[in-house]
Amino acid sequence: MHPAIINDFLELVQIDAASLNERAVADAVTAKLKEIGCSVWEDPESARALGGNAGNLYAVLDGGLEGSILFSSHLDRVANGIGIKPVFSDGRIVSRGTILAADDLSGVAAIIDGLRRVKESGEKHSRVEVVFTVCEEKGILGSLHLDYSRIKSKTAYVLDSPGRIGRVINSAPSRVSIAIEIKGRAAHAGNAPEQGINAVAVGARILTSIKEGRIDGESTANFSTFEASGPTNIVTAKAVIVGEARSRNHAKLENYLAELGAVCKKVASETGAEITVDVTHNYRSFLTPESSETIGLIGRVFDDMGIQMKVEPGGGGMDANRLSANGIECVGVATGYAKNHTPDEFLVAEDLVRSGELVQRLISAYSSSIKS
Ligand SMILES: [Zn+2]
Repeated sequence: MHPAIINDFLELVQIDAASLNERAVADAVTAKLKEIGCSVWEDPESARALGGNAGNLYAVLDGGLEGSILFSSHLDRVANGIGIKPVFSDGRIVSRGTILAADDLSGVAAIIDGLRRVKESGEKHSRVEVVFTVCEEKGILGSLHLDYSRIKSKTAYVLDSPGRIGRVINSAPSRVSIAIEIKGRAAHAGNAPEQGINAVAVGARILTSIKEGRIDGESTANFSTFEASGPTNIVTAKAVIVGEARSRNHAKLENYLAELGAVCKKVASETGAEITVDVTHNYRSFLTPESSETIGLIGRVFDDMGIQMKVEPGGGGMDANRLSANGIECVGVATGYAKNHTPDEFLVAEDLVRSGELVQRLISAYSSSIKS
């Protein structure tokens, strides 16, 4: 017989779901939370805004003590997550031909398990808030539409990171998407090329004038699309370049964008092309210092559990970026999965069990830190 957390996990991954189609998983999770004694509220606004069939879930377990602590995971999964058949292999849970969706249903199962353990212990505790977001895998959109006015906690643990238990993610980059539109001028390529402005050549000039790839230790940029086409006898009038840039240091990202703007301006004045740069801010970087109470607390809990803590920077955005931007100090917490987003995804079963214990211990440790 499996522990409850394993059964929950196996049940949840076998419910078909995707970003914006989280309905069935949201219902199953809501039922489990209510059974534990949580009050659960589903935000209809987030579903409406995103066009999904379920909204962010917000649950509270009151425990009679002061203070409030938040746990979060996401309900959706990347593509190829329909018809998952989890099986055990060498202490791991794996799937065959699909993703496993341990990203992030291992986090969901761990939070449910932690709440259940706390409830069953009968101990008094601080208020526990839980946010299960929708549509995390497609631009972290559930937490963009989260109703932050409901959240009282100032410290949060986002159970949504690959790696063995003990790994803590304390930073993630800002990310922007960039679209550069170049308007040149068409002309006959043979008769009067000097009357034309070749948008392809202008675009090439921009790309060779701006740093790309690894910008510095904290920043990257990638231009992935260069669109232009036309017959060879006409000077090409239009081109579009699309890319992204990230930095764990938001100011450095702003500097890079300013540099890109200056390059485009210079190339425009040299060539006569009209160049517009359109930047969309996707999410903002966060950095929770190792000296913070949020990391201090989980460090003490890992010590008690005999687990070595490893604090590392993360390379991608997550719900923690948005929680942090809304004034909630948080970190990402690994639950034992690896190779997520691929059919080789697996979850170390023992790490999952210990992740439930981790949530319970975090609630207890937080509650006694408030008491004293
Ligand atoms: Zn995830």
